Amino acid sequence: MIKVENVSFRYNKEEVLKDINLEIKNGECICIVGNNGSGKSTLAKLIAGVIIPSKGKIFIDEINTSDKKSYEDLRKKIGIVFQNPENQIIFSNVYADIAFGIHNLKLDDEKNRIETSLGKVGMKDYIKESTYELSMGQKQRVTIAGALAMSTQILVLDEATAMLDTRGKEDIYRVINNLKEAGYTVIYTTNISDEIFMADRVIILNNKTISAEIEKEKLIEKIDTLKALDIRLPKLLQIIEELSKRGIDINLNEFTIQELADQISGEIKK
Ligand code: ADP
Repeated sequence: MIKVENVSFRYNKEEVLKDINLEIKNGECICIVGNNGSGKSTLAKLIAGVIIPSKGKIFIDEINTSDKKSYEDLRKKIGIVFQNPENQIIFSNVYADIAFGIHNLKLDDEKNRIETSLGKVGMKDYIKESTYELSMGQKQRVTIAGALAMSTQILVLDEATAMLDTRGKEDIYRVINNLKEAGYTVIYTTNISDEIFMADRVIILNNKTISAEIEKEKLIEKIDTLKALDIRLPKLLQIIEELSKRGIDINLNEFTIQELADQISGEIKK
């Protein structure tokens, strides 16, 4: 369980986030959206405990992220992956890169941890590879494996697909969906509106605070809220809005193209 309680944050003098309150249950998948500079990345880093609140508290289970003595315990609970995998990979070999974090936290069972975590991101066959040979998407998956190897059950992804090509992005989507199914808590920030559908709940940042929280099943009825908060509509929602203007009401659960096609063809056949 993650609890963000009345959190504000300032870089030097500039207040970036103000009075943020948020609860995230174990196993939930949360997407944080908002315009450039709205504080998505700052909130992701605060939740992961790599920066600490200027005011308020954040708890990851019983650990207060401001408590410096608990830093190692925190790292075993929550991992964060950033935009550019090349800034996060240190070693020239996949095995050594993941082993580095394991050594830092003095964890045992190194080989098994590395194999298992690479398996979770579909990269087990690359265990002996040079990290230089990998595509950006593969590098990013190694970075995710590095976080998972610490036994973390919570993963924060800060615009982790932004620098990847389409194939690399899709591989990360697959990893996120697999982690969700395996019961991980996943929190991701994005600038790509089509990515919001992986989440159970979408958090919208605006004016330094959370302006709306929308459950996935409410996204269609909240299209006007998204537009009012200047969130670019994902293509699927644009199509649904256009259909609605033409008197065709669509209701999706999974927000897939197949599901949309099924509903439209059902309407046509009526
Ligand atoms: P987003 O991820 O939504 O684009 P950020 O969290 O990166 O937003 O940034 C929020 C605000 O904080 C922006 O105004 C940005 O310029 C500022 N900011 C981000 N990082 C720093 C930093 N290291 N030092 C000073 N200001 C920063």
